[in-house]
Amino acid sequence: MTKRALHWFRNDLRLADNPALSAAAEAGQLLCLYILDNGPDRRALGGASRWWLSRSLDALGEALARKGGRLVLMQGDPAEIIPRIAAAADIDLVTWNRRYEAPAIALDTRLKDQLTARGISVRSFNSHLLNEPWQVTTTTGQPTKVFTPYWRAARQKGEPAAPIPAPSRIDALALPESIEALAVSLANLGLEPRKPDWAGGLRAEWIPGEQGAAERLDDFLTRSLDGYTEGRDRPGRESTSRLSPHLRFGEIGPRQIWHALRHARETGKAVGSEGDAEKFLAEIGWREFSYHLLFHNPELPTRNYDRRFDAFPWRADEEALRRWQSGQTGIPLVDAGMRELWATGYMHNRVRMVVASFLIKHLLQDWRAGEAWFWDTLVDADPASNAASWQWVAGSGADASPYFRIFNPVTQGETHDPKGDYVRRWVPELSGLSNSDIHQPWKASQAPLREAGVRIGETYPAPIIDLAFGRQRALDAFATIRNR
Ligand SMILES: Cc1cc2nc3c(=O)[nH]c(=O)nc-3n(C[C@H](O)[C@H](O)[C@H](O)COP(=O)(O)OP(=O)(O)OC[C@H]3O[C@@H](n4cnc5c(N)ncnc54)[C@H](O)[C@@H]3O)c2cc1C
Repeated sequence: MTKRALHWFRNDLRLADNPALSAAAEAGQLLCLYILDNGPDRRALGGASRWWLSRSLDALGEALARKGGRLVLMQGDPAEIIPRIAAAADIDLVTWNRRYEAPAIALDTRLKDQLTARGISVRSFNSHLLNEPWQVTTTTGQPTKVFTPYWRAARQKGEPAAPIPAPSRIDALALPESIEALAVSLANLGLEPRKPDWAGGLRAEWIPGEQGAAERLDDFLTRSLDGYTEGRDRPGRESTSRLSPHLRFGEIGPRQIWHALRHARETGKAVGSEGDAEKFLAEIGWREFSYHLLFHNPELPTRNYDRRFDAFPWRADEEALRRWQSGQTGIPLVDAGMRELWATGYMHNRVRMVVASFLIKHLLQDWRAGEAWFWDTLVDADPASNAASWQWVAGSGADASPYFRIFNPVTQGETHDPKGDYVRRWVPELSGLSNSDIHQPWKASQAPLREAGVRIGETYPAPIIDLAFGRQRALDAFATIRNR
């Protein structure tokens, strides 16, 4: 007998390799639902993520329509909406792909119990990760807090399952009027900024959606993977995949990436060495590891993993935070990164580490203030990777960077942006300076500054802090908690 199924889209905004969607489509008539979740305890999406989501839902709606389906949008608390729809539309099967943040797990578990008690089948799947966070353990079956053994154990599990194709056809379920009345248009979700419309830079940079993700991957494998191992540390080059927002919203999944990479290498289409391919997979591994950490430490986005940091003497300094956010610290690499973030919703990984270190260590601001700013401004703002990375930089996380590793933003610039391409692009007021002056313009002599039209303190800020002083102050602050 044909069933009446509901697939609840969340972080899986794609048709291919979407096991929950496929299971629902195979079962019978299908309602495809996305709910903008404003229920209690859920962290609201940041502005950049809302923009991305809007474009991604648009693309998903069109892709579903091409298959005969329809994406129904609603807003509210899924804990109320889904049981209501299930009852009114006489649903027999609800499917979703799993999430791993504590509030989402709690909601999904509650819903599953509620629906099952009413005789509705609920089936959940993994679309988001190569391995479920609980599947990778130490030899004694424990979760691990160190990346290298994590990734070794994950690799020993062998190839991930081959991706499954998109459903060939979707038989859309007609909705009763009472439910139709709950549907809202994409425009009425109000996800995109209007007054002011600050998303121009995002529109210029990205093509959200499953097709945009597939094209980005193909382009990366066939053109940019070559030299990834070193190139990934050069913010002035486009050497990384920029797949992170697509992964974040599930427009592509890691199994698809894995197999596309293998296939491209076997057929000679991929550029780059085996080492480049392995390095790229290991970065996907860091994403997996972040989810492993989040699942086993649900408070990762809000609490220090290392509780000694609860006593860390952070300085609350609104002015310093504001200057960091707006790329006006007077430290070129930091300002370049923060301006790239503001303009495009993205920042290169190396620079993310530098700006985070600068905020936490030189400016002694609580990592949670930085995490929150990234959450609001990144198009790839991710509950696991963002929290794990901020804690990693702070030194408060699992497998964290040791407290005494304080990035010097000048040396980082000289090493990773040796010709100043990245700084010139994002801090154009310094573009006339030589490669040797561009990363520390306050030390340049008067003649080259004059020639480049740079007046420190006027056309470009003086450094917000003396770097040597800031470094020592951070070491002293860390010393206060080291032996706790
Ligand atoms: C302070 C800080 C905050 C961060 N916040 C986020 C975040 O909110 N969302 C996010 O996706 N990444 C975050 N990262 C990790 C990393 O910077 C981005 O994943 C990466 O820059 C994305 O660019 P890419 O897709 O070109 O990466 P590539 O080099 O092409 O890597 C491929 C994929 O691997 C994953 N990946 C790469 N590096 C990491 C990493 N260090 N940790 C976890 N996953 C990784 C991403 O999914 C990425 O798309 C953060 C890093 C730092 C230091």
